[in-house]
Amino acid sequence: MPLTVNADTNAGRFGGLRGRLWCMALLAVVCTLLLATSTLSTSIETFRKARSGAENMRQFTAIFDAANLISAERGPANSLMTASEPKRFEALRAWRGFMQDTDAALDDLERRDIPVEMISRVRTQLDRGRALILALEHKPRPERSYAEIRAAIDAMFLARDDYRPIIEWHSGEILKLDRELGAIIVQGIALSDMREYAGRLGSYLIAPMAASTAVAPQDIAASNAARGRLLEIWDLLGPNALALPETVAIRTMRAEADQTFMGRGLALIDEQMALGGRTGQFSLDGVSFTERYVAMMRPLGEMRDIYFKEIAGQFETKEHDALSALYRNGLTTAVLLLLVVGLVASVQFYILRPLLKGAQAVIALADERPAVLVSAPDEVREIQRLYGAIGILSERLSERALLTRKLEALATTDGLTGLLNRRALESRGETLMADGVRFLILLDIDHFKSINDRYGHPFGDTVLRATADLMRRSMGTAVHLARFGGEEFAVLLERGSLAQAANAARKLKSAIANHALATPDGELLTVTASFGVAGGADLPWSDMVAHADAALYRAKAAGRNRVRVFHSSTEAGRPAQSYREGAGPMR
Ligand code: GH3
Ligand code: MG
Ligand code: MG
Repeated sequence: MPLTVNADTNAGRFGGLRGRLWCMALLAVVCTLLLATSTLSTSIETFRKARSGAENMRQFTAIFDAANLISAERGPANSLMTASEPKRFEALRAWRGFMQDTDAALDDLERRDIPVEMISRVRTQLDRGRALILALEHKPRPERSYAEIRAAIDAMFLARDDYRPIIEWHSGEILKLDRELGAIIVQGIALSDMREYAGRLGSYLIAPMAASTAVAPQDIAASNAARGRLLEIWDLLGPNALALPETVAIRTMRAEADQTFMGRGLALIDEQMALGGRTGQFSLDGVSFTERYVAMMRPLGEMRDIYFKEIAGQFETKEHDALSALYRNGLTTAVLLLLVVGLVASVQFYILRPLLKGAQAVIALADERPAVLVSAPDEVREIQRLYGAIGILSERLSERALLTRKLEALATTDGLTGLLNRRALESRGETLMADGVRFLILLDIDHFKSINDRYGHPFGDTVLRATADLMRRSMGTAVHLARFGGEEFAVLLERGSLAQAANAARKLKSAIANHALATPDGELLTVTASFGVAGGADLPWSDMVAHADAALYRAKAAGRNRVRVFHSSTEAGRPAQSYREGAGPMR
């Protein structure tokens, strides 16, 4: 009974090699995705923060630019209010240019989501100041009073003061997003304020210069206060406090401002205050003073501009770096995923698929089915060796199967005649006897010994082979032919009746008796044989052999060259036996 192997090794959906591989692949992809998601989400968050930081800084710069323009507008306004006829037109043109710049900056702020009411308050105050300046400009110069000029300058100061809530509001917004930006905000406000207070210091001299009167005591006080604030801020922005970023440009500009404004600019104020503060006898007129003073203030404005540029640059670099990191991480994730998928695909293609093919081939061999393994040239070395080994195994198994078949044939066949040997017939007989009717014909060549004696043993063998051939030709299918031993043969019939078996024996008897053989002497010789026939339903093999043998003995005893049939019957309760020729009884 051959053992069979269950070819479907995939017990359960994920029990097989393929299922496990896909489970592992899925796990690897999920792990990669989890890892990538955490890295990517950090990168996205960093980039988002950097972008909003850079955007806030752009807005922050725009807000201070507008503040600076409001302050700067006072320069040409002061010139205009103090200008005499030839310089009036030029001053008016410069003022208009500054006003346009301020308005454009405020328009820009409106587009940047800054609360409109804050901007419109600044605009209203600016309009008021500008209206006062324009009203003064229409008056002949001698009619312009100290008080009117101070009022116009104050209105412009107020416009800048009204702008402060915008700076505070935006600083608050930035701080809400990132508390660490506090230092930058304070530095920005300080730089902007410094420029504002520097401007105010000059503005306090404009009204007395235009009206050629002494500086009013409250203006002296306000000027001193502004100077005090300015010096405080200058110290605050120094290296011991709110140190500005240590870039070459900022350091250079700070040194220049220290020399130009803090040195000569403040000296110019002091000089003019000392000269005309009490008497109204200034050495410069408003226009010349403004020109010189504004030029000395330039490093303060530039320091502020460089600072904002530097800060915005830092944030843009951060934004750029964060974006690059995001791209890098995205690319790494994609490459990792591709690698995992590629790895799984190549394991499937180079290992799993050929292994499963190999497994199927081995299973086929175990089931004694042919195993066909076509090895592809791109298969890995180990798989090619496995396939080679399976091929050799397959060849050896088929060689062994062939050998086994040969051995089986040798074990069951008579070497001289090619018929079954006695043992093979017995084993078939015992199997066949187990179910139903069977018959046995035993035949023995008559006086065979004398044939051997007269013509030699080889001729005796020829007679044996010829008899086997006649048996093959004379007997139909469904019979088993055997050499029973020496010159004795047997025919086992699987179906029919005792009479049919006896007929078959008679037919064979005639065939043998009618077949002439050429002897070594050149004569023609015929031989005869005697037959014993037995059989029936449910007869044990040994009994049937004994019965046939007994019938054969009778045939010999009756004179040879005849058929005797063994009949068993029950007479008066006792078993009796009879041997008959054909249908009639023979005793
Ligand atoms: P009977 O008519 O009573 O059967 O007489 P017989 O001579 O045929 O019977 P016997 O048993 O006396 O002789 C059988 C002979 O068969 C004896 C033996 O040498 C011979 N013999 C047995 N096997 C072989 C064989 O393979 N080849 C040859 N040539 N002779 C064999
Ligand atoms: Mg014999
Ligand atoms: Mg004999």
